[in-house]
Amino acid sequence: PLILGIETSCDETGVGLVRGCELLGDEVASSVDQHARFGGVVPEVASRAHLEAMTPTVRRALDSAGVKLADVDAIAVTAGPGLAGALLVGVSAAKAYAMALGKPLYGVNHLVGHVAVDQLEHGPLPKPAIALLVSGGHTSLLLMRDLATDVQSLGDTVDDAAGEAYDKVARLLNLPYPGGPPIDRAAREGDARAIRFPRGKWGDGTYDFSFSGLKTAVARWVEDTVRDGREVPVNDIAAGFQESVVDVLTRKAVDACLEHGVEHLVISGGVAANSRLRALAEQRCAEAGINLRVPRPRLCTDNGAMIAALGAEVVAAGLPPSSLNLATDTSLPVDRPLAA
Ligand code: ATP
Ligand code: MG
Ligand code: FE
Repeated sequence: PLILGIETSCDETGVGLVRGCELLGDEVASSVDQHARFGGVVPEVASRAHLEAMTPTVRRALDSAGVKLADVDAIAVTAGPGLAGALLVGVSAAKAYAMALGKPLYGVNHLVGHVAVDQLEHGPLPKPAIALLVSGGHTSLLLMRDLATDVQSLGDTVDDAAGEAYDKVARLLNLPYPGGPPIDRAAREGDARAIRFPRGKWGDGTYDFSFSGLKTAVARWVEDTVRDGREVPVNDIAAGFQESVVDVLTRKAVDACLEHGVEHLVISGGVAANSRLRALAEQRCAEAGINLRVPRPRLCTDNGAMIAALGAEVVAAGLPPSSLNLATDTSLPVDRPLAA
């Protein structure tokens, strides 16, 4: 079946077309430039941008896939988690398409979508797999027995998400928003061993994470340097900060695989686009005999194809469609791939 996926949980209007693990169309319209000067997403601005971008983005996705709206067999949409007003635009549009076409509607989980998208690049996800989900709002280790029906959380961040830490530290270093890409670039010019920042929850025997202490340590470093009248070594700080983040992420992900006897690790979400995370994960997985899957950067950040990919799984699993009264759920838990 041909699945149309619609994503509007944050500031990307994403529309994807997928058949099984085959990616046919993937169009994204982002309002990120409109939020940059505020240093974070402004919900009302994001909602309005989704409203304006929705129909043209659906049109572009259909055109690039070379299919017609009438060819679509089911519609999948992000029901949560995300911004209330932003989610509402996507869910309303999806209901309208479902109603107009007389096709089933599936309200799916954005976070599980971040993992499901890997299937479009590397084929069916082996079962079981461990997923490290690292995005702007979430940092979780998941035991995935089945994308559509069996997702279990092993651990979470207790404070900031990994992407949030990148965005906050970028601000401290006067780098633009969103902070992931500029820190990634700055770190390549810096020495990761010049400054050793603390590793939150290192070796604490859990699969939880903490990044707020790290952020505070960076802030103190910057303050001290400025107070002493020295130039802030932006590249070294970026490199030291990044090393702390990816060291803990990869260590705990590999530990989770070993403890649960799982041979496959998938890393996804916006922070999975990070070059150092990808390199260190590759090295540590090779050492531990773990098969690593990381989608290409374009598929790591928010898009509609990830929602269509999860929709395809849910349809294949024979789960019942959502009702046309489907509600958004701003805090939909990760262990519910399909919203009620
Ligand atoms: P969530 O999925 O939790 O709802 P989100 O959808 O806003 O949050 P994503 O779009 O998955 O998050 O990811 C955005 C985050 O990824 C931002 O915090 C951004 O800084 C980060 N990011 C993007 N590219 C990189 C990179 N190269 N290195 C590190 N972080 C990155
Ligand atoms: Mg975004
Ligand atoms: Fe996301």
